[in-house]
Amino acid sequence: MKVIKPVSIVLVVGVSLLLFILRPFGFTDKDVPIEIGTATENIFSPDAALAELPYGNAVLAARDISRFDGEEALLRIDLLDQRGTFQAHPLYQAYYFMIMNNIMLRLGRIDDAVAYANQLLDYAKENNMQWVKASALSELAIERTKRGELDIALVYLNESVRISKEINYQGLLIKSYNTLGVISNISGDYAKAQTYLHNGLKLVESNPEHLYYSKIIANLALIYIYLEEWHKALEYIEKSKHIYKNGRWLEPSIMTILLSNESHVYFRLGDAVQARRAYSQADETLVKESSLRLQSIVSNELSNVLYLEQQYEAAIAESNRCLNLVGIQALPLQRGNCYTSKARSEIKLENYFTALHDLDDAIAENNKISNSVSLSGNHKLLSEVHEELGNDIEALQFFKLYYIENKKALFDQRQSELYMLEESFNAENSRNTLALLKTQNDLKDLELERQKLGVRVVFGMIFFVLLSLGYVIRKNATIAKKNERLQCSNTDLVELSTRDALTGLYNRRHFDDYIRGLKQDSAFYHNSNFTLAIMDLDHFKMINDSHGHDVGDLVLIEVAKRFMLNLPSSDLIIRWGGEEFICVIENKDNVSSLQMLKKVWSAITDEPVSTPAGDINITLSIGAVTDIPAVEFMARHTELLKRADERLYKAKHTGRNQIIAID
Ligand code: GH3
Ligand code: MG
Ligand code: MG
Repeated sequence: MKVIKPVSIVLVVGVSLLLFILRPFGFTDKDVPIEIGTATENIFSPDAALAELPYGNAVLAARDISRFDGEEALLRIDLLDQRGTFQAHPLYQAYYFMIMNNIMLRLGRIDDAVAYANQLLDYAKENNMQWVKASALSELAIERTKRGELDIALVYLNESVRISKEINYQGLLIKSYNTLGVISNISGDYAKAQTYLHNGLKLVESNPEHLYYSKIIANLALIYIYLEEWHKALEYIEKSKHIYKNGRWLEPSIMTILLSNESHVYFRLGDAVQARRAYSQADETLVKESSLRLQSIVSNELSNVLYLEQQYEAAIAESNRCLNLVGIQALPLQRGNCYTSKARSEIKLENYFTALHDLDDAIAENNKISNSVSLSGNHKLLSEVHEELGNDIEALQFFKLYYIENKKALFDQRQSELYMLEESFNAENSRNTLALLKTQNDLKDLELERQKLGVRVVFGMIFFVLLSLGYVIRKNATIAKKNERLQCSNTDLVELSTRDALTGLYNRRHFDDYIRGLKQDSAFYHNSNFTLAIMDLDHFKMINDSHGHDVGDLVLIEVAKRFMLNLPSSDLIIRWGGEEFICVIENKDNVSSLQMLKKVWSAITDEPVSTPAGDINITLSIGAVTDIPAVEFMARHTELLKRADERLYKAKHTGRNQIIAID
């Protein structure tokens, strides 16, 4: 490791400078990860097409208004509808669903918003409108991202980006790159986040009026927050606020996020006055329709401000308020942050055991979305708590975890900073920044080394006083062994995780977690009915036998993708094993459970899967239990699973390729 680190840094610095120097000659364009918009002359713009139609401009005006004033937009839509506008042309109909989706988001009616996005997707498929499909998938991906369901969001987004690129729909690409940047940010992959956001920024430069201009800058600011580059973060926040204020797109949530982030930066800088000022301004931007996510973000900043003001009890009360917000379970990022804030104040009040619990809960949330930065911060806090409790071994173990994670983040930081330099246009300035950056990083390394050394010295002294030198050596040997075992069990844990490596779907280990989640939120579901289905591909072995295992794998991946794209966003799909899947569908008022199952079944059987070995037709057998009241479903899921399995068996033995949902 000691050799790899300097070599890597020299390589990264060297290659980046080389690329930087070669830029003016255009030698490196094809190697630069930034995607520069291709043929600008053929940019696809549905807005322009709509503007050509009668009332087209009125529909566009309603769309613009729908981004910041739901009620007003609703009135306008009604007016246009009375004139029969939306029946007149398929383009109008697509805009209708998009505008209604915006309106529902503004009114805080998230489920309705998702329903409109799904209608948009169905409409796109029925009318074979690719750009509409790309828009719908992008919208659904944003909703999934907000809930921390990043894997599914990525499936939607990749498909959306593929279509947008094919038809050169730059307006939508900007939005998708922003979402991809957000997802990478959440997962702690800052280099990737930066690449995506810069891809978006490149496209925005030729379209400075775009709604996402200030969002993209705001998300770049967020990278600096994660990298703890506070002053740069403030610089980007200011820039984003400026663009926002001068733009004609007034989406209130952007300002709430910017001001909350600003408050967070001042919190981390220890500036209570500025943190409180930014928090109060953020709070003023909240309206009664503001989403739960915004409310929890602002609440968490208040807790942080109270912490800085040393009002620990009030801070804990605010964190508890955040944790009790209805529906917060669906927001792992925010929930994790609220637990961490609470733990910080509990530590100050010396409630160490409560703090341990809170940190465990925070880490569970961080793990749901692989948020490495928060995880590292929580490990550091855990180490502090254990130190206070005199659990020296645990303290060391958690410090080690924190140390390794933080080190990794610093290395990422170095890489992404260099990437920024490559993008900078002032050579002199860049050189200065590079020198500064190197010094900063070296200082950070030194600080880490010092901390690490500090812990070692303390341990060394304790051992020295208590035991002879020989005992210390033996003790160290046992600690090393323990760590080794810990590492092994960590590897096991990763392997035992709840994701299936081939398809990215949940595996069967997730089912219990899912049921536990339902039970936790049982108040939400008391009126719901569920359908549980076991789905098994027919004669799958024959596909492997005829075309090889690799082709079989590709079929499984495609099947998984179709399940994800065709199940409503709230539902569950698990790869139960081999070529067997289960899904849990929450029944909807307007669609029967059989219709839902038929839709999923058709998604697999209607279209052959294209593989390098040619198109392969797939058939599917389904055994299901339908319309089970929530309480019964939670209490008797094992029995229901068995009954569905028996029906699957019947489906297999009475001809396959069918759904059996009764005895
Ligand atoms: P039936 O319709 O009765 O279910 O027949 P079947 O062939 O689908 O079912 P069977 O249980 O006989 O065989 C399932 C096959 O699925 C056998 C196994 O090799 C294959 N399989 C399981 N997991 C994977 C995988 O991850 N990749 C590939 N390529 N094949 C897999
Ligand atoms: Mg099978
Ligand atoms: Mg099987």
